[in-house]
Amino acid sequence: MPEDTTRECVKVVVRCRPPNKKEIAEKRKSIVKMNTETGYVTLENPRQEGSTKGFTFDAVYDKDSTQRMVYDETAFPLVESVLEGFNGTIFAYGQTGCGKTWTMSGMEDPDPGSLLIEERGKLRGIIPNSFEHIFNTIKLRHASEEEGTEKTCEFLVRATYLEIYNEEIRDLMSPDPKKKLELKESPEKGVYVRDLMYEVVDNRDQIDAVLARGNNNRTVGATLMNSISSRSHSIFSIVIEVNETDAAGNNHIRAGKLNLVDLAGSERQSKTGASGDRLREGCKINLSLSALGNVISALVDGKGRHIPYRDSKLTRLLQDSLGGNTKTVMISAISPADYNYEETLSTLRYANRAK
Ligand code: ADP
Ligand code: MG
Repeated sequence: MPEDTTRECVKVVVRCRPPNKKEIAEKRKSIVKMNTETGYVTLENPRQEGSTKGFTFDAVYDKDSTQRMVYDETAFPLVESVLEGFNGTIFAYGQTGCGKTWTMSGMEDPDPGSLLIEERGKLRGIIPNSFEHIFNTIKLRHASEEEGTEKTCEFLVRATYLEIYNEEIRDLMSPDPKKKLELKESPEKGVYVRDLMYEVVDNRDQIDAVLARGNNNRTVGATLMNSISSRSHSIFSIVIEVNETDAAGNNHIRAGKLNLVDLAGSERQSKTGASGDRLREGCKINLSLSALGNVISALVDGKGRHIPYRDSKLTRLLQDSLGGNTKTVMISAISPADYNYEETLSTLRYANRAK
């Protein structure tokens, strides 16, 4: 039976992080098994020996997976299609501490001078790798023009960086990042954030600076910086406009948008003993996550069923980049350790529904 096109355009993968120092010291049992050939994951219930649950995904990445592997297999094709003028979104989903930020941002080499050139940058995640991919492609296209010349392209790359916290939108590029912004809708622009700042970027250094500035703002005014960043959804978007002129002098403009989303932690708030404001906050965060799950499963279902974009800020904002001609990748981050069983099961179920 031929796959329908929407199904092909939503890819769901799972990545399991290695055990951390504390888990190794405590001799925690690993309850996750992955078959990287078949995309099959089994999760063992630590309280019931021999009881396992199994799920199949488009791909699974175990503790030995490299940042490069994850980029090349999941993000690369999506970024290529953005360069061709389509929209695309990459999400990292999962419990706090399981590798969402590692997968999306990763880290720079602590001491690059001590590494051979070919060994550098291996810890970078999807966001910096996509910057490199985009600007390398632009450079290559310009270089091939100088040889060929029947066609010329001009690229315009713009970046925005925002955060959704408690169903409120904040601009991470703004001098006043605590100010709440409004979602608006117009026939020409579709759904957009009013007054959102953007920066035109011409090279790696400029876009790196945008990311660094925004990351810095994520923690402004936050007393509990860790908890704020694990409770907010951050969206780094890159719009790539290509203006092509052919040999006959005809212009053709295409624009693609890439959204790179580090979602709020998916853990249930009851576990962390939340009450009052924290609990309300938790409900709103989970509202965006459950709305996203509903949108993706409606898209994957592909029966022309109503897509409930309007149920949360996150899904409204990403409406033009989910479904239709777009590509979506959901990377679900999980922990291998026995004490995370409940959360890991819930992450795998969420991811399974999305596929
Ligand atoms: P999250 O953003 O989901 O809360 P992080 O990405 O911050 O989680 O990961 C928590 C810790 O685990 C970090 O110290 C990170 O460096 C480490 N980590 C996560 N995934 C991996 C991985 N695949 N390989 C190595 N370290 C990882
Ligand atoms: Mg994080």
